[in-house]
Amino acid sequence: DIAYVNGAFTPLAEARVSVLDRGFLFADGVYEVAAVIDGKLIDNEAHLARLERSLGELRLKSPVPLARIAEIEAELVARNDVKEGMVYLQITRGAAERDFGFPKDAAPTLVAFSQKKNILSSPAAQNGVKIVTVPDLRWARRDIKSVALLAQVLAKQAAVEVGCHEAWMVDADGLVTEGSSSTAFIVTKGGAIVTRPNSQSILPGCTRRAVLALAAREGLTIEERSFSVAEAYDAVEAFLTSASSLVLPVIEIDGRPIGAGVPGENARALRQLYIECAMNDAT
Ligand code: PMP
Repeated sequence: DIAYVNGAFTPLAEARVSVLDRGFLFADGVYEVAAVIDGKLIDNEAHLARLERSLGELRLKSPVPLARIAEIEAELVARNDVKEGMVYLQITRGAAERDFGFPKDAAPTLVAFSQKKNILSSPAAQNGVKIVTVPDLRWARRDIKSVALLAQVLAKQAAVEVGCHEAWMVDADGLVTEGSSSTAFIVTKGGAIVTRPNSQSILPGCTRRAVLALAAREGLTIEERSFSVAEAYDAVEAFLTSASSLVLPVIEIDGRPIGAGVPGENARALRQLYIECAMNDAT
């Protein structure tokens, strides 16, 4: 596989950044992940817009214009012959003598690579996934897609260790924030699709945005509000969204079956709609 590092395409196995890189030392950087289906990037404009916002919030500069980043991503997809999978890109504040304050003249680091992965069809999409809830241990700016992911790593590992696919993180008020790398949704007995509103408490998911737009188009009731773990247990249906998993039905939370304990109708329909629309708009 070929990766991109600071202006050059190189074999992934030989791609290197400095041990002084601030991404490595301080998690002083941001990232994005976009799905690839049929060799095309899905919803990439939204991902690049979010990248620009994350950069701005941390006063980081991209070493190249955003339009060039899109070209680099497309070139990785082509060079690595990715039909289905994802492209990862990361920008950090660069390598400099270790000091907490911003370095005066370090050049930012841009790294990108691709991975092949089944996205359209997977056992998780077919059968649904199990969730475990964990306390949300993260900082107060979860809206920034920073590479500081230790709390998410621990959350996901907690899920893996009890045979679950994903962890839903819960704030101090007992309200679900989001998954370790996905947005959380439930469907109420009244048929409303509920997901937490965007704020500094969650990452504004690109897939969340697209799925909510589709749900609105379909005339479904949407409630952008927080929900508790207890309300999630009681939901008739639950699902999650992310760029690399699209829409996945949730069939169990903390060992309790959700609804009938099988993938729900809304998740199935929204996944199908999302795939159709995303592929029409793909670049
Ligand atoms: N929340 C978190 C914490 C995430 O890491 C992700 C994955 N990027 C998401 C939500 C979903 O965002 P998106 O739909 O843009 O992939």
